Amino acid sequence: MYDVIVVGGRCAGAATALLLARRGHRILLLERARFPSDTLSTLYIHQPGVDRLARWRVLDEVRATGCPPLERISFRAPGLLLTGPAPAWGAATGGLAPRRYALDTILARAAARAGADFRDGCSVTGLLWEGDTVAGVRYTTPGGGTDQARARLVVGADGRNSTVARLVGAPYLRHDGRLTVALYTYWSGLSGDGLGLYSGPGAGAALVPTQDGLTLVNVQLPRDTPVTRGNARHAYLAGALRACPDLAELLAAGRQEERLFRCTDLPNFFRRAYGSGWVLVGDAGHHKDPCGAHGISDALAQAELLAGCLAETVGDPSLREKALRQYAEERDRRWTPPYESNLAYARLSPTENHLEVLRKGETDPLFRSLVFRALAGIPDEDLRSLGRQAEVH
Ligand SMILES: Cc1cc2nc3c(=O)[nH]c(=O)nc-3n(C[C@H](O)[C@H](O)[C@H](O)COP(=O)(O)OP(=O)(O)OC[C@H]3O[C@@H](n4cnc5c(N)ncnc54)[C@H](O)[C@@H]3O)c2cc1C
Repeated sequence: MYDVIVVGGRCAGAATALLLARRGHRILLLERARFPSDTLSTLYIHQPGVDRLARWRVLDEVRATGCPPLERISFRAPGLLLTGPAPAWGAATGGLAPRRYALDTILARAAARAGADFRDGCSVTGLLWEGDTVAGVRYTTPGGGTDQARARLVVGADGRNSTVARLVGAPYLRHDGRLTVALYTYWSGLSGDGLGLYSGPGAGAALVPTQDGLTLVNVQLPRDTPVTRGNARHAYLAGALRACPDLAELLAAGRQEERLFRCTDLPNFFRRAYGSGWVLVGDAGHHKDPCGAHGISDALAQAELLAGCLAETVGDPSLREKALRQYAEERDRRWTPPYESNLAYARLSPTENHLEVLRKGETDPLFRSLVFRALAGIPDEDLRSLGRQAEVH
């Protein structure tokens, strides 16, 4: 009997397991893939996420992968260039972009060191029920067998196509469909300074320096763009050109080092976050288009929120219900406003209002800092006070 079974061992699940295990709970962490394993992602972690990694004492290990600190940001849109230092936040001097096979493995190993029973190669296929309450999971094991385990709480941290969400019938609180498709690959020989963002008519792009001297270049296009295996490379390069001619020139001088990755499954939704004996964290409960690169940072923040709400209540059903309600309400309150902004950004056609804000940031350093802090998802209260200063300025 475990206190908590966490299904899914990447940034949401491994972080949840790590934080709960450090509080002394008995945790089983089940992951379908064999680690280290990669997943579709453009890697960028904003400052609040980097700060969490520092507070959880795993940042040194993440930095040791060789991913450079991304301490400058530049944002290009037709006729404008915003460039400056990435705002510092807590222990973070900028963003970071470790490869996912490295980040997720570091988190899962840290959870295991904290006492969680981490089992990879294990895929959850069913739930155990006591009446209407989830009481455990059934899963397949690496050797081809099946097993089951019981717990007071099952956490679904199993991504946007969550098995746990499907098995408990977690309803969508809202679903805003898909807005973009993403194409990305890794390049060598690109000169770049920090995180580069590009926004052109019907295309967005990001240049993200990562480990081994490589730079990930992501291009996002409207969802109805016909992208097939045959034309993906052409769509990618044409999209880079649309996002910004400078970017297309930069790519022409670089060398593509890996295959082109393509992702069309980018829904925008909130699912109900909890029920009797279960709770969802990370993409399983709330997914958004990756154009704002918030999924990893949000998964880490939600893991911390959930572990904080649960605190010592895991063993007491009535306190647990209250803690889960608090987590769900806070998740929806905190993540709805940035979700709306992200939806607007994912439409890939900046409004005149947006452009005006960006133009102001071109000449006004305080305003620029405000824009960069908003991009990084730096918490609201701090932004509001900076906004007030910017108005006075
Ligand atoms: C193309 C693309 C680009 C992105 N770029 C960025 C970016 O730059 N920055 C950013 O912050 N975010 C980005 N994201 C989003 C980010 O990758 C996700 O938000 C983040 O990975 C969510 O973490 P998670 O742990 O909730 O889910 P996931 O990373 O999806 O992990 C879920 C895990 O659960 C496991 N699992 C699934 N089902 C089962 C089961 N039945 N049993 C056991 N295990 C199971 C899976 O194997 C998987 O390892 C991007 C996403 C995509 C698709």
